[in-house]
Amino acid sequence: MKKRTGVFVCHCGINIAGTVDVKNVAEELMKHSDVTHSEDYVYMCSDPGQKLIENSIKEHNLDSVVVACCSPNLHETTFRNCAKAGGINEFQCEIANIREQCSWVHKDKLKATEKAIKITRSTVEHVVKNKSLEPISIPVTRRGLVIGGGIAGIQAALDMANSGYEVILVEKSPSIGGHMIQLSETFPTLDCSQCILTPKMVDVSKHPKIKLLTYSEVQEITGYVGNFKAKILKKPTYVDPDKCTLCDKCVDVCPIVVPNEFDIGLTGRKAIYIPFPQAIPATYTLDIVNCPGLLPIACGKCIDVCEPGAIDYDMKPEIIEEEIGSIVLATGYDLYDKENMKEYGYGKYADVLDGLQFERLLSASGPTMGEVLRPSDHKVPKEVVFIQCVGSRDPELHCAYCSKICCMYTAKHAMLYKHHVPDGQAYIFYIDIRSGGKDYEEFVQRAKEEDGVVYLRGKVSKIFEENGKITVWGADTLAGKDIEINADMVVLATAMRPTKGAEEFAKKLKVSLDKDGFLSEAHPKLRPVESVTSGLFFAGAAQAPKDIPEAVAQASGAAAKAIIILSQDHLFHSPIVAEVSLNLCTGCGMCVDVCPYDALSLKDNKAEVNEVLCEGCGTCSATCLRAAIEVKNITPGQIYEMIDASVGG
Ligand code: FAD
Ligand code: SF4
Ligand code: SF4
Ligand code: SF4
Repeated sequence: MKKRTGVFVCHCGINIAGTVDVKNVAEELMKHSDVTHSEDYVYMCSDPGQKLIENSIKEHNLDSVVVACCSPNLHETTFRNCAKAGGINEFQCEIANIREQCSWVHKDKLKATEKAIKITRSTVEHVVKNKSLEPISIPVTRRGLVIGGGIAGIQAALDMANSGYEVILVEKSPSIGGHMIQLSETFPTLDCSQCILTPKMVDVSKHPKIKLLTYSEVQEITGYVGNFKAKILKKPTYVDPDKCTLCDKCVDVCPIVVPNEFDIGLTGRKAIYIPFPQAIPATYTLDIVNCPGLLPIACGKCIDVCEPGAIDYDMKPEIIEEEIGSIVLATGYDLYDKENMKEYGYGKYADVLDGLQFERLLSASGPTMGEVLRPSDHKVPKEVVFIQCVGSRDPELHCAYCSKICCMYTAKHAMLYKHHVPDGQAYIFYIDIRSGGKDYEEFVQRAKEEDGVVYLRGKVSKIFEENGKITVWGADTLAGKDIEINADMVVLATAMRPTKGAEEFAKKLKVSLDKDGFLSEAHPKLRPVESVTSGLFFAGAAQAPKDIPEAVAQASGAAAKAIIILSQDHLFHSPIVAEVSLNLCTGCGMCVDVCPYDALSLKDNKAEVNEVLCEGCGTCSATCLRAAIEVKNITPGQIYEMIDASVGG
């Protein structure tokens, strides 16, 4: 039976009409036996353009529509909704891309018009064989999962919980807080980092809608948007938080001392420890990696002194399974490994520090109670050299990208150093200063104007220790001379890297990473917090180097996106998915192996499609030797007809 197709050719201003004779395309298409109506219009996506399509469907009693315009990525949904408003099934509408695939890539109007006619004609061949379909409805589990308990994860979890949804917050270390809890004061306002973060951490621990799982890691995520299943490993802390009275006696007797992660090795901690005084949850963790052994007990001193009997060596790892509808990834960053920065003496000389170690020295809760002292001899450093872009902006040897925050925190470091050591001298080596952000430029200017702070434009070539000093050789490219500074301390603004283990973790979650190993967003401009996998969102420095305001803003953005899913009873998935002809399928499993979305499995020796996971990519159809699997509305039959229309005269 003949179809009654309407063809609507868009000018897109001069984007299409400048190169393609749109009237001619509309006229030629009228000659097709399945086309009942055809016309052109200046902006088909505009309100009047959409009304025109809607009215034409009714007026000409159309049963299908082809819009010849821009890429379907842009307006397929617009025109499908418009077809629906006109009274026909939305999957009876197809887009002929005559802009990106024609007018934008050709100059010769005659040939471009000829090509536009062929593209549109082949799309008519496509639509006339389309079946009417209905979107697939998926029920939603209305709980969220946030992975990573830094400021970004905390913000996302609080936003979701405050909107009324249950949230599971998973943090791999024994306390939430991330790197922000290690900072002293924060640019550009210089407010105390711990003072502004701890109330939020407490809110998380007290929130009735947040289930906090610290010392835990997500091992597996299966399922799909609206219906994920997470397997979470909760490592044993060997201390029962309900019994522990925080008396610290176990710490006193524990004989093992290892570098303290919270102070980045500037102090030591015991094998049983609380990460920092304001830790949430406020409880001790027995670090089994460094404890000499529990089974059999090799030491047992802590259990002997623990009066309330809070220490339990028999505690076992737990696998917790949770069902969730949407996920926010906020796994944060780590600083560039010091192994990579040997040329600057980092890891070799005790008084060459990274930025986070300097933060700990500045912090009132730090190893020196906020006094700036050299780690080597605990003397006040009178000359400190700060070096920016360490490992950043160095495509040959290190990371090509700018770490974005280190110009700012170095200005802060110099300023705070001067507050602590008023007669001290700070030198800052920089390539150029990047201070985009509200009040950021003014902040850097304040640092520059501080007496005893000298900015030197240039690079450092060598750092070595000599006579108890750290000699820094560099160049001042503005003055055009070599510089030698005999410093007491050097602080390196090392590059921000994706958190350790990010690659392995991304593989588990099937999310893609960018070339630098940060989480890769679905679209850099229009979908900056979304993963290409539906239902997964990104927050904070896991996606790219970010400061706190940006991490918080993105976390709220990610939470809002996650809530859009949780707030619905059902989600709708495109019905353009694979279907199997059971009588043709031999159960060879080739399609199962090639499906990039894990949407296929074998059941009773036949391929079975999980329609919710299927993205209609067609890989299975192209692989099956028996033509037993095809994608609805993009069948091989339709594709052959389209090829004929394209290559025919
Ligand atoms: P993070 O703070 O890194 O938190 C990520 C969390 O995720 C961590 O708790 C981590 O343990 C956890 N995690 C990682 N992987 C997993 C996993 N697989 N499963 C579960 N949990 C996981 N910004 C400012 O705005 N002002 C400043 O003054 C400032 N000073 C700074 C000074 C220095 C020296 C540095 C290095 C940074 C500074 N920053 C500053 C930047 C600030 O630290 C970051 O913007 C902020 O910490 C980013 O937060 P986040 O939550 O994205 O990441
Ligand atoms: Fe807690 Fe027992 Fe250690 Fe005291 S001795 S801090 S009660 S685990
Ligand atoms: Fe260098 Fe500044 Fe970029 Fe950091 S933010 S990499 S110091 S330019
Ligand atoms: Fe998998 Fe693509 Fe086939 Fe769907 S169309 S089952 S996503 S290979």
